[in-house]
Amino acid sequence: MSLVELAEVSKHYGNVRALEGVSLTVGAGEVTCVLGDNGAGKSTLIKIISGLHPHDGGVLRVDGEETRLASPREALDRGIATVYQDLAVVPLMPVWRNFFLGSEPRKGKGPFRRLDVAHMRRTTWEKLRAMGIDLRDVDQPIGTLSGGERQCVAIARAVHFGARVLVLDEPTAALGVKQSGEVLRLVARARDEGLGVVFITHNPHHAYLVGDRFVLLKRGTMVGNHARDEITLDE
Ligand code: ADP
Ligand code: ADP
Repeated sequence: MSLVELAEVSKHYGNVRALEGVSLTVGAGEVTCVLGDNGAGKSTLIKIISGLHPHDGGVLRVDGEETRLASPREALDRGIATVYQDLAVVPLMPVWRNFFLGSEPRKGKGPFRRLDVAHMRRTTWEKLRAMGIDLRDVDQPIGTLSGGERQCVAIARAVHFGARVLVLDEPTAALGVKQSGEVLRLVARARDEGLGVVFITHNPHHAYLVGDRFVLLKRGTMVGNHARDEITLDE
């Protein structure tokens, strides 16, 4: 059974048809790449899967169950975590604080329960290290990290908090070769941990490095959907 399945899904904004008849599946331990130029409908697809803009046609299934994700909260509750390109981080706060943003553990009793800073620092440090993310320290403001490092931290964070589906919005756009490689390594790592990954990109090369399925969008419609073994580089 797929973690997420779209069957003939469409989405309109007034008269604008942003997406029409798009079908794809995301299985556990699988990377589904969504490719397309500007205006193809990639962002719209992300918004449907992450509960920002519910679809208005076709069927969306999560864990085999038909659903309509009406809010980001609902998507998160279903195990779908989205890492946006312009990450929602607080640049001046330390890496560990951002890692736990929105679900900070507390200690003590009563109304004066304090943030469990030691736990957050240690856990962030250990989780990042376990995923091979080599930061000098987790106390530095997250704004001092490179774009690639921030993407990696965000992916590690989703894995730590138990996401089952990871939606990545052009995570390697604007990154150089080395940083893109680091992010792609983390994508493969999340896949190996059993997550289903939706990898939105306009870079076919990056898609091919990690993808199991390739969905090609063009002006809101799906013009291709291929498993990796259906693509041959031979004549
Ligand atoms: P991509 O992310 O691939 O560039 P989008 O999903 O952003 O594509 O856009 C697909 C189409 O839907 C485009 O024609 C775009 O202009 C239109 N669109 C996207 N969002 C809106 C919106 N909120 N209101 C009206 N039209 C929109
Ligand atoms: P060791 O790695 O041998 O346990 P360290 O002095 O490197 O000894 O770290 C002790 C503990 O402090 C680690 O287990 C880790 O959880 C935490 N730690 C180490 N470095 C940092 C850091 N830069 N930021 C936050 N916590 C750290």
